[in-house]
Formats: sequence, structure tokens, C-alpha cells
Amino acid sequence: MRKYDYLIVGAGLFGALFAYKAIKEGKRVMVIDKRPHIGGNLYCETIENIQVHKYGAHIFHTSDKAVWDFVNSIVEFNNYINAPIANYKGKLYNLPFNMNTFYALWGTKTPAEVHLKIESQRKKAGIENPQNLEEQAISLVGKDIYEILIKGYTEKQWGRKATDLPAFIIKRLPVRFTFDNNYFNDKYQGIPVGGYNKLIEGLLKGAEICCNKDYFEDREVWNQCADKIVFTGKIDEYYDFCFGKLEYRSLRFEEEILDTENYQGNAVFNFTDSETPYTRIIEHKHFEFGNQPKTVISREYPSEWHEGAEPYYPVNDHRNSDLYAKYKRLADKEESVIFGGRLAEYKYYDMHHIVEKVLAMNIV
Ligand code: FAD
Ligand code: UDP
Repeated sequence: MRKYDYLIVGAGLFGALFAYKAIKEGKRVMVIDKRPHIGGNLYCETIENIQVHKYGAHIFHTSDKAVWDFVNSIVEFNNYINAPIANYKGKLYNLPFNMNTFYALWGTKTPAEVHLKIESQRKKAGIENPQNLEEQAISLVGKDIYEILIKGYTEKQWGRKATDLPAFIIKRLPVRFTFDNNYFNDKYQGIPVGGYNKLIEGLLKGAEICCNKDYFEDREVWNQCADKIVFTGKIDEYYDFCFGKLEYRSLRFEEEILDTENYQGNAVFNFTDSETPYTRIIEHKHFEFGNQPKTVISREYPSEWHEGAEPYYPVNDHRNSDLYAKYKRLADKEESVIFGGRLAEYKYYDMHHIVEKVLAMNIV
């Protein structure tokens, strides 16, 4: 008899949620992660008594009450509302695109004036049926906003021309004709009080966990220890890249401790020009309304993924989507392996998507 019902490869949000549910069903689970810690990309480190989001800033948001109640049953969330500021060549604009942004750019004061402005820019660009990110953005907010707040940021972020990127990426962002700087449209939003590690630790209570263990270094041994596998790593790696390698975007974080209480007055500043090499500066303490004497900031530099770098974002262009579909056909035939999460499903999931998905799973 095998020792565990499930071997869970990856102690990120998907793996931790799965473990939580499986343990509730009385299953024996082993969770492994190749990193030296649990939490995946949600992992935080305490520096100067501030929770520092080591793999990029994370704000939980959802409109699903069951999802919100569930995460709050594990750890209480605060009432942080994300309202990033864009810095374009030294001038500041509110995000997401809303009446404050339009006013700063055009001096427009009413929604009717803004609609006219966007409509005239869309007509001039001659876009009827947007086929890529650039066309989608211009048809949503007009050419001025596209050029000042979207083009530079997007091309830095993705390392590709906006005309070569899928339209859905920009549809994530709200466009609002009210004076409302809330980055998300969702009903519920916040940050776990005391940081994301509390959420993951709560989910993994009772699980056996081994960090610093790469599944691929001892694959056969790990396969022997459980009846089923939950795999949350890269799907192309699982199949030994047999159809070719999927592409990812990576990030590099440059962290600095500053001897000042408040560096930028907001958690998130986006740098939307093409010359500044980083996309964002995060000042972590503002996620938890901190008043520590020092502050920690992270500059976020996007980069192409290469072996050894962290694969942060799937690149959902045609080539990669077709390649993923081939791997998915293999995955669908597996009877004792479940593929889940951003890397295994090659999908631009937010945290709430993952919670929704795992809560709906039937674990047998
Ligand atoms: P991961 O967190 O990537 O977990 C996968 C785990 O598997 C990792 O710990 C990895 O080390 C481990 N692993 C991989 N291969 C192996 C192997 N061979 N052996 C052992 N272990 C392995 N979502 C939001 O809702 N709000 C946000 O504000 C937000 N901000 C984000 C900012 C950035 C910069 C990024 C990249 C993502 C952001 N997200 C956000 C998305 C969020 O990070 C994901 O939805 C979530 O982390 C996905 O969880 P996961 O378990 O699928 O993946
Ligand atoms: N985006 C932009 N300008 C901004 C912020 C975002 O053009 O100031 C675009 C960019 O293409 C980005 C997408 O909108 O990839 C989605 O942004 P979001 O903040 O949701 O990205 P994430 O949190 O996943 O990094």
C-alpha cells in the first residue's frame, strides 16, 4: 500500500488549497516544493517588520461571497483597496482608467465629454473589430491613453509588440466613467492581516510538507509514494518538453530598504513610459497601512524567461496556446494525475480563480 493518497507537487495556492480539501476528506497528503518555503508566488518575508511580497505584489479580490468567506475563515483579510498611480515621464495619473485619469489628460469633466473624445479617437483609428491588444486598447480608451498609459508598460511587461499580444490581457482592467480609482470591480478585496503566509500555513495545517524537493530530480521515487498526483508545476516539463517549450515572462525584483517612513505614499506606482526599465515600484507597508519607521520598496523588472528563472506569466499568444493544447490532450488522458494552477494549466489565473476552482473540485 502506498503511504499517501495524494502527492501534491507545489506548495503554492493551488497545492495548498487542494491539500486543505483533501485532508478534510480524510486523505493522507504529501506536499513537496522545490523552493525553500511554502506559498508559491504568494510568499512574504518579514523585513523591518513589514510583510514583503517576494514574488510580486498580491491583492486578493473576488465577487464570490463563498470564496471571500472561505479565505476569511482561514485568516482575516483587511480592507485594503488597490488604487495604483501611473507615472508617465514624471506626470501622475490615476488608474484604472476613470474620470480622474481622463480629467488629468484631457480636462474633460463629464462622462459625456469623455465618451465623445474616445469615440472620435476610435473612429480616427478605424477599428471596428479589435484583433489584438493595441486595437482593443484604442477602442476602449482612445489613442492618447493607449500611448501614455498602455503601450510602453505593455511592451515592457510582455517583451512583445502590443499588436502581437492577445486582446484579453487589457480587458482585465476596468474602464470607468465615474471618479473611482479602485483598480478592481470586485465586491470584496483585501490583504491577509499579517501576510499571505498565514493563509498558506492555515491551508496546509496537518499536511506533510517537504521543501527544497524538485519532483523531477526523484520522479520515480515520488510517484511510488502516493496513489494520485496533483501537479502544479510546468506542464511542458511534466512531459519532458516532448512537443517543445512553452514560453513565459519572468520578473526580477530589486529590493531596497529605505530609511524613511513613507517613500511614495501609495503601495503601487506603475511606470508607463518605455524608457524606465521597470514597470512598477511597490512600497509594501501600504498594503497593511503600516507605520514602521523604515520602508521597503521593490522595483519590478520584466524579462524573458530562461532556464533557471521563475516562470511568472504564461504568454498566451497563438504559438504557445497551440502548443499548450497539445500538452493538454496528453494531460486529459491521465487517470491518476490532476494538473492545476497557473503553470500546469498555462493560464493567467488570479488567486480567486484558483480558490473557486479548487473549492468546486470533488476530491475522492
Ligand atoms: P505558484 O504560486 O506558482 O505555485 C506553484 C508551486 O509549484 C511553486 O511554489 C513552485 O516552486 C512549485 N513547483 C514547480 N515545479 C516544481 C517541481 N518540479 N517540484 C516541486 N515544486 C515545484 N493574483 C491575484 O489574485 N491578485 C494579484 O494581485 C496578483 N498579483 C500577481 C503578481 C505577479 C507578479 C504574479 C506573477 C502573479 C500575480 N497573481 C495575482 C496571480 C497569483 O500569483 C496566482 O494566481 C497564484 O499564485 C497561482 O498559484 P499556483 O499554485 O498555481 O502557482
Ligand atoms: N497595463 C497597462 N498599463 C498599466 C497597467 C496595466 O498597459 O499601467 C496593461 C498591461 O498590458 C498589463 C495588463 O494591463 O499586462 C494587465 O494589468 P494587471 O495590472 O492586471 O497585470 P498583473 O497584475 O497581472 O501584472
